[in-house]
Amino acid sequence: MEKERTLGLINRAVRDLDAYHLAPSETPIKLNQNESPFDWPEEVKEEAARFCRERPWNRYPDFIPKRLHEDLASYAGATPEQILAGNGSNEVLLVLLVSLMNRAAPVIICEPTFAVYRMLITGLGGTVESVLSADDLTFDTAALKNACRNNPGSLLIAASPNSPTGSALSESQVREVLEVHEGFVLLDQAYAEFGGFSAVCLCEAYPNLLVTRTFSKALAGAGLRLGYLVGSPEVVREIRKIKLPYNINFFSEFAASLLSRRRELIRERVRVLCTERDRLYRHLQSLPFDTCYPSEANFILVRTSKCHTLNNFLSREGILVRDVSSYPLLKDCLRISVGTPRHNEILRKKLDEFFSTVK
Ligand code: PMP
Repeated sequence: MEKERTLGLINRAVRDLDAYHLAPSETPIKLNQNESPFDWPEEVKEEAARFCRERPWNRYPDFIPKRLHEDLASYAGATPEQILAGNGSNEVLLVLLVSLMNRAAPVIICEPTFAVYRMLITGLGGTVESVLSADDLTFDTAALKNACRNNPGSLLIAASPNSPTGSALSESQVREVLEVHEGFVLLDQAYAEFGGFSAVCLCEAYPNLLVTRTFSKALAGAGLRLGYLVGSPEVVREIRKIKLPYNINFFSEFAASLLSRRRELIRERVRVLCTERDRLYRHLQSLPFDTCYPSEANFILVRTSKCHTLNNFLSREGILVRDVSSYPLLKDCLRISVGTPRHNEILRKKLDEFFSTVK
């Protein structure tokens, strides 16, 4: 069969997608993916390596990673029955869309937000009902509640704290939405450790609430690809039926358990990053940006008409940030992840240099 005809057999919705892609980079100061800038100490890696050496590689991992689910539950403040671990929270999102998306009803999302939501929804043949943020890029809860009333039964997805805006829903806003919406509410709380209201405690009271979390940010485990769902036990039991068997490899299973038990180190690192974020925010505000948006996460969004020149300048100086100017409402915007204190210091100096020379 010829190539063009073969490609024609691929689902139209998938062929119409633009690929979600980020080029690999050797840039020394990497502030473009909201990863933790801190790697794990040698002794933690040693323990994980020892486990890998001793474990037979020819055997499947556990069907349900019991110990991991227990550790995740204890870390998140839930019970193991409320947990489903996935290969990154992206995989959990996919499993949730497969289980909950009704093609007859749109999925409500709050834009600008994480681009993967729209990509997966449309790729799976669904449609999006987009609720735009307010002018200051905070959530427009009145518009959101309206969309809920107009689309009962729809799945609603909101990232809180949201990326790339950094804004978060308060507890009362989350409760208001849960009170009006007659459908599932998925709160993506990938950045929960850095700020905003953590909604895990509401999962028992609201069985239509689902919360996803990740090891890719505060837990400094982006390379493990480990995320998890917290929901009510009855709903999670159903969703578990559609997850792929053995979706967590044995290394990630073991390493994630190990990391989740190092609470003090995680807390200390989160404290450092939040202090650094606030310091960077004050500095950004002192520079001639059009707007610096307050953030509850480990990154800051800025707007400047010199967005592209600034991005190129930083890149030449070995600092990689994320150009998000193609997102809805984000013309001329860059998203800057918070790095180590030393990297943030270099960033501040380079920003000073840029604004003192560029007219
Ligand atoms: N949710 C949000 C809001 C994100 O910004 C990201 C990645 N940057 C993810 C989920 C993906 O998380 P994971 O690495 O666990 O797939």
